[in-house]
Amino acid sequence: MIRTIARYGARHVPGTTWAVIREFLLGRSVRGPAIRLFEKKFAEYHGARHAISASYGRMAFYYILRALNLPTGSEIIFPALTFWVVPEIARVCGLRPVFADINANTYNLDARALARAITPSTRAVVPTHLYGQPCDMAPILELARQNNLVVIEDCAHSLGAAYQGEKTGTMGHAAFFSFQMLKGLNTYGGGMALTNDNSLAAEIRALADAEPWPSHKAVLSNLISGYLKRAFISPYGFTFSMFLAFYIASFFGHHDLTRFIWEKIRPLHPLPPSYRRRYSNLQAVIGLKVLEVIDSLNAYSQLHAHRLTEGLKQIRSIRSPEILYETIPVYYQYCIRSSRPEELSHRAIRRGIDLETMHVDICNKLDLFSAYATSCPVAEATAETLQLPVYSSLSTEDIERIIYVIQEIGRDLPPLSPNGGHAPSSMYHSRPAAGRQES
Ligand SMILES: *Cc1c(COP(=O)(O)O)cnc(C)c1O
Repeated sequence: MIRTIARYGARHVPGTTWAVIREFLLGRSVRGPAIRLFEKKFAEYHGARHAISASYGRMAFYYILRALNLPTGSEIIFPALTFWVVPEIARVCGLRPVFADINANTYNLDARALARAITPSTRAVVPTHLYGQPCDMAPILELARQNNLVVIEDCAHSLGAAYQGEKTGTMGHAAFFSFQMLKGLNTYGGGMALTNDNSLAAEIRALADAEPWPSHKAVLSNLISGYLKRAFISPYGFTFSMFLAFYIASFFGHHDLTRFIWEKIRPLHPLPPSYRRRYSNLQAVIGLKVLEVIDSLNAYSQLHAHRLTEGLKQIRSIRSPEILYETIPVYYQYCIRSSRPEELSHRAIRRGIDLETMHVDICNKLDLFSAYATSCPVAEATAETLQLPVYSSLSTEDIERIIYVIQEIGRDLPPLSPNGGHAPSSMYHSRPAAGRQES
């Protein structure tokens, strides 16, 4: 039996479906007690005061920005490498996104670049704990303090990660999380805002509670389509669907067909009507189940990541991610540099292993943000990175197979240049206009 390894694996906790069916039979799909309970447990998990659920992670961010009421035209700094939706939401709120470069080894906002990007109009900064690795927060928080900036952590990838003993999401003024299918805590969409500030929390709550409830039908069809998508990327679903297409496409030099299922990069003003709804009770039931075991799910990814780092350290054409001292990453993604990323991914897919080329966006280069274009060479060079599968549902055999295949191909490829391929090469292009999947 062939078993291919897909780039993604959605998290699913056994037993959740029964809890969902039970809640449905009780007539509590849309509203119900699980919502407040999930918010409470989520806040407790972080040792934070307030958690407020939303229809999307981006909407949690939207409410935070609205609640902060920053002057129109204020500048808000983002790492250049992030999901395009986030700076776009800032623009929807009347702010001016400014992109700062990242650190070449951690892929996170570089404090020196942040310092250079601050102007008298800057009011906020959004450190993104990209791929589940916490940002180096100490210098970021210090700069924010000196310049009176609000710090809003983007924790879409980092639920459960910690920096110097502090969980991500608890170090700034507010934070937001995403519960999309591929994120650490999957409730087939949804998000959460987190803060210790009572009055900010009350404002966010008022905004979130003012949205209409979704219909029963909308809640159910979202869940059913989520379950179907999850089946599609499961090992057998993937083997007999996308894998065949990828396999064939790899011979024609276009293996990244996923751009056809991504959310199109586009202005989000006015906000799509589907964003304006409350988080449902059925989703909260799932959220409670996953939250109970989130640390053990993360532990699987951490274990896989350590094996990958161990197994690939002799391969000179590849460089594993650098982990900051005193951080606990959760490995939402395992991002490597390769001297020949395109060749590596084409040869890997022919052997049943699907690698992802670019998981987020080089935002300063997007047409959508052409009015805010800046030069961020380190972020631009991440067009050369690849992401290896590291998700929690992989078995140790899967990981050993990934290592074996990547070692074999990697030995054939030329070594990385000493600066690790920071300069973009022309042979490899970042994903065209496409962002993350809508769920
Ligand atoms: C997924 C994601 C978000 C928010 O996602 P939603 O789809 O709005 O829930 C925000 N930032 C990053 C970096 C993400 O990957």
